[in-house]
Amino acid sequence: MHHDANLTAERPTFVTHLECSLTGERYEADRLHGLSKAGRPLLVRYDLAAAGAALNPGTLADRPADLWRYRELLPVRHARNIVSLGETMTPIVPLPTVGGALGAPNLWVKDEGRLPTGSFKARGLVMAVAMAKELGVTTIAMPTNGNAGAAAAAYAARAGMEAVIFCPADTPEVNVREIAAQGARVYRVNGYIDDCGKLVGQGAKERGWFDLSTLKEPYRIEGKKTMGLELAEQLGWELPDVIFYPTGGGTGLIGMWKAFAEMEALGWIGPKRPRMVAVQAEGCAPIVRAWAAGERHATRWEDAHTIAMGIRVPQAVGDFLILDAVRESGGFACAVSDAAIEQAVDDAARQDGLLLCPEGGATLAAWREAMAQGLVGPQETVLLFNCATGLKYPLPDRSRTLDRHAPIDWAEL
Ligand SMILES: *Cc1c(COP(=O)(O)O)cnc(C)c1O
Repeated sequence: MHHDANLTAERPTFVTHLECSLTGERYEADRLHGLSKAGRPLLVRYDLAAAGAALNPGTLADRPADLWRYRELLPVRHARNIVSLGETMTPIVPLPTVGGALGAPNLWVKDEGRLPTGSFKARGLVMAVAMAKELGVTTIAMPTNGNAGAAAAAYAARAGMEAVIFCPADTPEVNVREIAAQGARVYRVNGYIDDCGKLVGQGAKERGWFDLSTLKEPYRIEGKKTMGLELAEQLGWELPDVIFYPTGGGTGLIGMWKAFAEMEALGWIGPKRPRMVAVQAEGCAPIVRAWAAGERHATRWEDAHTIAMGIRVPQAVGDFLILDAVRESGGFACAVSDAAIEQAVDDAARQDGLLLCPEGGATLAAWREAMAQGLVGPQETVLLFNCATGLKYPLPDRSRTLDRHAPIDWAEL
């Protein structure tokens, strides 16, 4: 099989229609869509019986190991509209020392930092941009805390589209520069990500930009869904007992939950589901608050603050989808402090050599907390999500200097 067969071979998609996630109302496929009339995300639906006749675990095993090998379960209809920067299958890396310290031999990290632009935002944005291309869009716009904008800018450049990106003024410098370096017009805005989202909405009206905000168009979920397909395939079509997901807009959690349902309908997995844990930061935990209160919808979190910028999302349009999945799975939502996040990042790097991003560190901190409370057992298989490379974040300066002209006390080095 040729290395780029997933990108070049014509393969059918089995999309039938889209559906409002709240009301179930049907929408036509192969059209540009934003939110449903009810103001909620649209979900893409497939003829899974037909897809299952065309694709199975055996055919998948013979395909190159990238995200596009699930083509029959993705919305892009024509190979010419595929964009790609090499969306590789990401490894599942054990944390033997950090896990071993709590007597847990099955603590694993799905390391999404290996993807193009260094974060799992590539999964969602590659699909959203490919669909935008297929449907004739020339300018995309989105709000971002950093990583989504970087992925959008990269894929827009690849697809020959313009990108206009708005980010909170305190977004890390490296992210803002990365977005600009990849050709997008990027603006720092004195507000939060949802304030930036309002500007995108206005720009969409004023200038005809296509709004790629999280869950406001239907295809980012389909890209993020590949995390669920991929981890099942990697684990021999067995799902882990528990998944810890750092939750901002929740696209990945919602996407994986959708993937599990589709795989069960295809007969690739049974009814067993992981307990889904939505992890947030204490300084911005609207989903945790709604979960604890037994609510299906979350209210906006005021004065949001955390070092884990990717999960600093005061309000999520897919709140009920996150909360429904967490509840149906028997999971829970929990918030961790910035101090616990920093400790987790430090421990994973020093003890197991894996440099997590702060959001990934949040999942490790949450697992430790859950172990302490007896919510997760030491023998359970646990998958943490590290959503970006730790290299994209400011690191503490622990360097030392040495004067090579002065006498060196070797015993001190
Ligand atoms: C976007 C992002 C998240 C949150 O992902 P959602 O699916 O939007 O909840 C977590 N971590 C990092 C590093 C991110 O960039």
